[in-house]
Amino acid sequence: MFCISVEITFLVSLRFAACAGDQLQGSLFSDVTMNLTDLNWSAVKSLSKDTPVVFPVAALEQHGRHMPLFTDSMLLGEIIRRVSERMNDRALFAPLLWLGNSDHHLDFAGTLSAAPRVYLDLLSGFLENFIQHGFRRLVILNGHGGNDVPGKQAVFEIRQKHRQRNDLLLLFATYWHLGGKPDEVDANIQQQQMGHACEWETSMVLRIAPHLVGDLKQAQAVPFGNAFSPATRGWITRERTEPGHIGDPTQATAQKGETLFQVFTHDAVAFLERVIAWDGKSWEG
Ligand SMILES: [Zn+2]
Repeated sequence: MFCISVEITFLVSLRFAACAGDQLQGSLFSDVTMNLTDLNWSAVKSLSKDTPVVFPVAALEQHGRHMPLFTDSMLLGEIIRRVSERMNDRALFAPLLWLGNSDHHLDFAGTLSAAPRVYLDLLSGFLENFIQHGFRRLVILNGHGGNDVPGKQAVFEIRQKHRQRNDLLLLFATYWHLGGKPDEVDANIQQQQMGHACEWETSMVLRIAPHLVGDLKQAQAVPFGNAFSPATRGWITRERTEPGHIGDPTQATAQKGETLFQVFTHDAVAFLERVIAWDGKSWEG
């Protein structure tokens, strides 16, 4: 029982639970979320190197006239908050990286962007840092479309660089691409894919920060369009939308926002459970 006389850190909580017996583990473990910001280096060093390390990445960019620039970071931050509570001590969460690749939004005031190659190197560096620290299961969890290509390229390039290894799991995933279909959970949800400052994103901001949402009556629907699909067209945002949003924000409600958060949280938890269940060597996962 002397374990609790040391400073209260995550690891000490674990030791205390082990010392104190099974009856206390539930209450102690239920409050533990493992944030990199809260640990000291020796605590990180002593973690199992099969612990998934999650790097949440988002953006600070224009979100139409009715939504704040920090929308993507706020939304992913809320999802990570919910996910980390459910994962308890079974995954390590790096702090959310608010700077993303948003070059396509630079015609709109206030946007901050890491250029694509800078962003690629930044994410690659994160992965390299934690490979050096001995961790094997690294997950970039994304909340911004512009991070998609550099994020996928980062996991691809780092895998090539460490091609002698057979025990690395390097993953990039965007939260709205993890399988959930919010419109099948709530038939009032019109949109079937992520837009930009759209029904989905506006609903989620209405749920967590309604005071930051402007007048939706002024926000006309902007269609997604079909730009030479299935080809990928190089694009900048102002050629698709004058106000900056894509989709129909007038359909947004806080209730839909709660549904969306629940769907995306469920998906992300299920995804991390697959990472934990990986056998450490197989292609399948
Ligand atoms: Zn967004």
